[in-house]
Amino acid sequence: MTDFLTQTLGYPRIGKDRELKRALEAYWKGTGDADQLLTTFRQVAEEGWRAQLAAGIDRVGVGSATLYDQMLDWSIRFGLIPERFSALKGLDRYFAMARGEPGIPALEMTKWFDTNYHYLVPEIDAGVTPEADYGDFLDLVERAQRILGARAVPIIVGPVTLLFLARRSTDFELTLQALLPLYLSLLNRLSDMGVEEVQFHEPALVLSEAGELRPYFESAYMALSGSGLAINLVSYFDDLGESYPWVSALPVSILSLDFTRGDTLSLIGTHGWPEDKVLGAGIVDGRSVWRINPVQMTELVEALREVVGGRDRLRIGASSSLQFVPYTAGRERELPEPLRGVLAFAEEKLEELRAIATGDLQGRGEIWTDFYAFAPADASVQARVSRLEAGDFTRSLPYGDRRPLQVPLPLFPTTTIGSFPQTAQVRRLRAQYRRGELTRETYEAGIDALTAYAVGVQDGLGLDMLVHGEFERTDMVEYFAEKLTGFAFTRHGWVQSFGSRYVRPPIIYGDVARPSAMTVREFAVAQALTEKPVKGMLTGPVTILNWSYPRTDIPKQEIAFQIALALRDEIADLEEAGARAIQVDEPALREGLPLKRERWDAYMTWATDAFRLTTALASPATQVHTHMCYSEFGDILEAIERLDADVISIENARSDDATLRQLGAYGYPREVGPGVYDIHSPVVPTADFIEAKLRSFLHHVTADRLWVNPDCGLKTRAWKEVIPSLRNMMEAVERLRRELIREAG
Ligand code: GLN
Ligand code: ZN
Repeated sequence: MTDFLTQTLGYPRIGKDRELKRALEAYWKGTGDADQLLTTFRQVAEEGWRAQLAAGIDRVGVGSATLYDQMLDWSIRFGLIPERFSALKGLDRYFAMARGEPGIPALEMTKWFDTNYHYLVPEIDAGVTPEADYGDFLDLVERAQRILGARAVPIIVGPVTLLFLARRSTDFELTLQALLPLYLSLLNRLSDMGVEEVQFHEPALVLSEAGELRPYFESAYMALSGSGLAINLVSYFDDLGESYPWVSALPVSILSLDFTRGDTLSLIGTHGWPEDKVLGAGIVDGRSVWRINPVQMTELVEALREVVGGRDRLRIGASSSLQFVPYTAGRERELPEPLRGVLAFAEEKLEELRAIATGDLQGRGEIWTDFYAFAPADASVQARVSRLEAGDFTRSLPYGDRRPLQVPLPLFPTTTIGSFPQTAQVRRLRAQYRRGELTRETYEAGIDALTAYAVGVQDGLGLDMLVHGEFERTDMVEYFAEKLTGFAFTRHGWVQSFGSRYVRPPIIYGDVARPSAMTVREFAVAQALTEKPVKGMLTGPVTILNWSYPRTDIPKQEIAFQIALALRDEIADLEEAGARAIQVDEPALREGLPLKRERWDAYMTWATDAFRLTTALASPATQVHTHMCYSEFGDILEAIERLDADVISIENARSDDATLRQLGAYGYPREVGPGVYDIHSPVVPTADFIEAKLRSFLHHVTADRLWVNPDCGLKTRAWKEVIPSLRNMMEAVERLRRELIREAG
């Protein structure tokens, strides 16, 4: 019996030791040149190919490597470059599109499907003529071929997904027709290089909207099938749902589907498998960190072999790119053995693919027996969740009645989103403490000095509601996870969030509880330094869950409610310590939204319930804030309202006021702080710019409900950018306030 072929759809691309981040940052700072950057980029890509070669992967997806983002890469490769970047060339243009330049705003950034990866949104202006500029891609493929030979399978972002995700002022059909010849010429070039198979990634296929895109998919793949190359049409993150029958009839040789989300197996069972196609079965989950269950896996492979009608029509693959998991669990020696034993990151997943393909799953059940004996189960937390009642989810007074009890503030209250610059100094301090080189007292004194500085700056600038600055936090999720039970941490487990920003998601492996207060000390230090109210600062339950790797055998709602109860206790402690306002950040609320509309309600109900469970028992006099960013919020306005937060701050600069307009049109009844400037750009916004923004906001929200704040936390900025930016923000607010006073007088 021959083995199944194995395939991958992309690999981690940041370097095992975050080499690419270092190279990027050096390049931006001017301490490294373009050659050094590109050398590192290529080394990182090559290492990924070699790892896949060594693991015996038969069809290795090539082209997930990127300097910043693959959607940006493909925009540029097809000449989809907005007018404002036209004077720039090469890397200058590339990074201007990614990060902005003085006077040239960056492309919009938003979350990639339901992941925590952020991509740059292609922008297709009416005036643009698509043109081919894919030399860098051909070069990458050629380098891969040198290592992988015929195993190298180029990954191309499919035309329909590219257009669907783009912000377009052009006609879909016309733009598609303009792009297809460029795609075809790319396929010809690849064919000349000896490529036999290509992957077209079309995750838009799993969306509810796919049905409306059907004519485009049909005409696109009809055209592309003329290239003579074997096309592997790849979808992931969900099943194809109602689209399965027509997608499975598209003229491609291989169809790769996700078997880890949705119910692809039933779809094939119901509608049958097309005789002319190979199934690329995504059965090793590219987004979870857990090893396979050998019994389930054996059954699944057997069922798949049966439905597709033979071994040669089935390939064993990862469900998605492995960019969503870290490189290797083997390196995490500090994790307890029973836990490490059940973890599978990219390298372990490669090994699992081979093991499944060769039918060698002996002995893989015991690790799970050991794990279950080891993972913490907390009966009292489970009981607390099971006892919850309606009253646990509702604040004691409605907004109209509680608002007068809350902290009095001037018109257009000014605030920030929480974090202040994470300077080398603060990172050094935390690292030294972690290594045990500082006593707790010395460390806390260091943090408190930074907090005092931040409070002083805010007080000096005249902000109305202050924050302590989050200097004690490496990351808004990790910080809380470290204080809660049930979480484990990796040392090297970085995954890309966007560009050079990487995160290390914690692993939720047991029940979650709060042994003691988590943020009260830092809050109290800050509040003692100022008369102004300081916001307590918490990360919400849904964000903690969505930005971790949860257990897959416990319902997400259960985990979210456990976290919510821990945060609820924290809010009580903050109130006790004198907090008059508490912010519960939920930037990840939207990204957890299922990709199929029919599953939205179920998710939104438990997700908003988790937020309400966190905040409902707050005193009506406590002003509850929430914050969201870098997502499409138009779909979840009802859910945002249902949170019943008193104030919401939203990122705005990179989405062209879209969220604010949507909130305005929806008639959002409470207070809103739309971001007045882009915090990911090093540009200091002028007071005029901010004033104009605020005036435009007043078309969508009444003056008495408008807050003034930056888009998001300021941790990635330098003080020398933050201080003038906030000074200009205050200046703009002062102008508006004076004007209103003049009008009133
Ligand atoms: N309070 C957090 C901060 O300011 C919020 C970050 C976020 O929304 N991602 O850093
Ligand atoms: Zn944010």
